[in-house]
This record gives sequence, C-alpha cells and structure tokens, in this order.
Amino acid sequence: MLVERMRPFTSTIFTEISRLAAETGAINLGQGFPDTDGPASLLVDAAANITEYGRNQYPPGPGVPALREAVAEHQRRFHGLTVDPADVVITTGATEAISATLLGLCGPGDEVVTFEPTYDSYAAATALAGATLRTVPLRAPDFTFDDDELAAAFSGRTKVVLVNTPHNPTGAVFTREQLLRIGELAVAHDAVIVTDEVYEHMTFDGAEHVPMASLPGLADRTLTISSAGKTFSVTGWKVGWVHGPPHLVEAPRAVKQFLTFHGGAPLQPAVANALALPDSFYETVTADLTRKRDLLSAGLRAAGFDVLTPRGTYFVVADPRPLGHDDGVELAWKLPELCGVAAVPVSVFCSSESGAAATRPLVRFAFCKRDDVLREATERLAGLRA
Ligand code: PMP
Ligand code: GLN
Repeated sequence: MLVERMRPFTSTIFTEISRLAAETGAINLGQGFPDTDGPASLLVDAAANITEYGRNQYPPGPGVPALREAVAEHQRRFHGLTVDPADVVITTGATEAISATLLGLCGPGDEVVTFEPTYDSYAAATALAGATLRTVPLRAPDFTFDDDELAAAFSGRTKVVLVNTPHNPTGAVFTREQLLRIGELAVAHDAVIVTDEVYEHMTFDGAEHVPMASLPGLADRTLTISSAGKTFSVTGWKVGWVHGPPHLVEAPRAVKQFLTFHGGAPLQPAVANALALPDSFYETVTADLTRKRDLLSAGLRAAGFDVLTPRGTYFVVADPRPLGHDDGVELAWKLPELCGVAAVPVSVFCSSESGAAATRPLVRFAFCKRDDVLREATERLAGLRA
C-alpha cells in the first residue's frame, strides 16, 4: 500500500547494518552514534528538568525560548551571524528540520540540487515533497565537485540547493571558494540555500567550517540547520533547529506543526545551557575526534585499506580494493562475519547510477567510539589480510 514515491525508502542502511551488527556481535562502526554520552552537566540538567522542574508538558510550538536564544547566541559566537531568536525553530532533530524545510518549500515540478553521495534523508525528504533530486558528484579521493557539473545541475526548476558541510558520508569540508560558487548559482537561479551543518564543530587539520549564511549576500536566501545530537553526543535526543530570514523560516515552521508540533520539552533547556559551554568543551570535541580519526585511519591502513582522510565529521571512507574487494555493498554485508566489524557501503548514498558506480568499492567507518573500542576494531580488521 505504500505510496509509490516512498517505495525506494522502505528501509535505511543504518537500520540494516545496525541489525546485522547486533545479530553478529560485530563492533558497529556503521551507523554513526557515539558510545559515550555527552557532557555530564547536560545530562544532569535534563534529568533535573524532568524530575525537579516538571518541564514535561508541551513546550511552545517553535521551541523553548531559552533554546532559541541560545541557538542565536551560538551562531553569533562561533560564526559571527546575527540571528533573531524569533527566526529560530526548534525541531525533532535535524532530520525533521530537513523534511519540514523541503516539504515547506518544494512540490511537484520543483528540483532540489545536492551533492552525491548524499545523506540518505535528503532523497527521501525530496520524494516526500514530490520534488525531484538533481545530484552533483563529489569525486574521490578528496570529494570535490566539478564547477561545470554543478552549473549543469541548476535550471529554471531549481527551488533549493541543499548543502551539507562538513559532509556525510565523505568527510569533505567545503572550502569558502566552493561555497561561493554554490552561492553564485543559487543567486543566478533564485534558489533557496538549505544548509545542513550538524558536523559544524567537527573539523580537523585546521579545516575551517564556513556557514553558507556567513557568505556575502547569502544570509537572506539561506536556511541553516543543525542539531545537538553530534556536538553533545546525544543522538537519541533529537533536538535540532533551523533558522533563517522570516520569509524562509515560515516554511519549516508551518510544516513542523503538523509533523510533530513539538518534542523534547525537558531536553531543550538543557541543550540551551550546553550550547553556552566554554570554548574548552568545543576544543575537546575536535581534539578527541582528531585522535580517534587518526587511530582508526592508521588501523585501516595497517589492515590494507586505502584511506580517504576526512577533514570533518566522524566518518572515514576507506577503499578495500588493495584487499581484493571491489564491491562495498557486498563487503559491508560480509565484514561482520569476516572480522567482527560493521561498516556501511558508500554507494547506497547515491541515487544516480553513475554515482553508485563511482563509489562502488567504498565503505564508511564511524570513529565516534571509545579509543579502546577503536583499538579492538583495528585489531579485528587486521585479520582481513589473513
Ligand atoms: N544530517 C546529516 C548530514 C547527518 O549525518 C545526520 C545524522 N544522522 C542528520 C542530518 C540527522 O540529525 P538528527 O539526528 O539531529 O536528526
Ligand atoms: N547520521 C548517522 C550516520 O550517518 C546516523 C543516521 C541514522 O541513523 N539515521 O551514520
């Protein structure tokens, strides 16, 4: 009975691989979620909101004012953006922000330009809206795009360009120059820029996260999405947000009312306090993940993979061809049995045949895990050579 446009989306690779990892007892480096919880102050705050302060009833529709103010202040503090808290909408994770935004902006006949491989919810949310996805390939090894291919993806039907930086699953961090080119095309085609910046605090080796809304002339056509899940290691809380100028943010605000109305009442004030944590917290996030990236990358290299070093996110893409595997889907399904580690194939994040072909061998490993877990995983991966 499932409506035709949602038929390609009956499951997700994260559901499948997490199930496989659980069944086989493999270390799950497939679905990206940390195995430690976020800062103690955040957890204590949330617990107190539930048990002491009784913040358990419906919050205001667009979100708890303290969190909307904290998001605005975070955007000022880290990115120099001027955001009116009235233009912030709190959502049920970035996922709802993405769906509400595309549903609110697009319909049949409209096109959404994005990069491929692409986070899985983009294709599904575009299909939900009845719109059409146009993808621009990001090519290994450094996952950059070709300017002509980008320009060719835009047309008179382009309603939205959906950007994700730092980029899942490739770990690419778009440069200012790349973002400016995207911005120029958005202006030329009068498209709305929707930018998913959930990995904004996760960049390495001095790579700079540049928010689209911070580029000259773009704030007025940009909706910026992020969430607490990654930054504060609380992926199960699903507290996210979207902000942008009033004429754009009205779109996700309207739709969101009829997806969930609101959620996470006791979590929202706790996230507000966490966003105000000192710089030392954010520096530790980066330092810890840099160490984990290097640990897992070294293990993957030692095991015989080629590693496509990420400049951001908590994912590393590896090429198993030196080990004799040229199909990432096949390898991801066999990996738990071969060595007790789970990963996700990259090609499933592509909706075009050419994108799937170009990324066919690649697999993605998440490194947001305890160091001892990553060490154990690298020891297991070393067994692949045997
Ligand atoms: N966008 C990207 C690029 C992601 O990797 C994720 C994490 N799964 C999300 C959005 C969804 O974020 P949330 O868990 O806050 O819904
Ligand atoms: N963002 C995470 C990942 O890419 C998990 C996504 C999910 O479970 N839907 O692995």
